[in-house]
Amino acid sequence: MDRFAVALDLGGTQVRAALVDRRGQILNRVAVPTAATEGPDVVIQQLSDAARAMMSGIEAGRILGVGLCAPGPLNTQEGIAISMPTIAGFENIHLRERLGQSLNLPVWLENDGTAAALGEWRFGAGAGLQNFVYITVSTGIGGGVVADNRLLRGRLGLAGEVGHMTIVRNGDTCSCGNKGCWEAYASGTAFTLRARQRVASLGHGLLAEGGKPVDGKAVFAAAAQGDPFAIELVAEEAEFLGIGIVNLLHLFSPESIVVGGGMSSNLDVLHPGISSKVRDTAMKGFESVPIVRAALEGNSGLIGAAALVYDAVPAISPSSHPA
Ligand SMILES: [Zn+2]
Repeated sequence: MDRFAVALDLGGTQVRAALVDRRGQILNRVAVPTAATEGPDVVIQQLSDAARAMMSGIEAGRILGVGLCAPGPLNTQEGIAISMPTIAGFENIHLRERLGQSLNLPVWLENDGTAAALGEWRFGAGAGLQNFVYITVSTGIGGGVVADNRLLRGRLGLAGEVGHMTIVRNGDTCSCGNKGCWEAYASGTAFTLRARQRVASLGHGLLAEGGKPVDGKAVFAAAAQGDPFAIELVAEEAEFLGIGIVNLLHLFSPESIVVGGGMSSNLDVLHPGISSKVRDTAMKGFESVPIVRAALEGNSGLIGAAALVYDAVPAISPSSHPA
């Protein structure tokens, strides 16, 4: 008898749910816009409703449990959301307990970056590796680390906040409140902001056309057409990504850097600039590590959340439990 995990991915814009089998295949899915300003009661109800939608029509005994990934910082040992910068009211909320009571199922909670690393490790670009770093570059920068064949969780399960390493002294302000974080320079948000500031200060023609604000996509499109101004912006983005990646190489000596998030759709274009920064600045022995795109597209976190459940509930042998 097949048994399933329900995976939930709580993000600042969407609550996503999926029914996932033990091979990491998504069998059913749903997404709703996150009620990000309406407080934890409403959002927990959204999570609960989305999970129930995935379970409808399936015998209760065939659902092993619920894996939930969410933005950090999270105390994953206690199941507590310490704070969520993008979703209002989640200050010290017992997320695991409240969702578990609502659904009457065991719930596993993980930071979204760490969950995505787990998804890529079990079923994606990190499969078979003992050491790799997953980074997701979109609105912010998150990530997760597999070191010595285990998921690195750290004290309270808080490890892996790769976006908040400082790369510039007294630099730009980050979403976390600090200045000079990697996220404040290399995230999609930072990239777009830099492009807009540059367009405004230099009055650049191509990117200012059409009267609407420039976004990252327009910069990449202009760079593809050979626009030197856009090419320079892309080169800067690659350099900022490279700076952080060199730090990660030195810290964890991974076999691979796996890149997910919206920015990864342009990894081909960014790759030469990132590689050049790595070659120029990484210590000997660290330069030749592959930098590859995530394999599970936008589903790394969801599939990783399901993997939490399957990791915790061992496979039941068919002979002892005939279908
Ligand atoms: Zn920060």
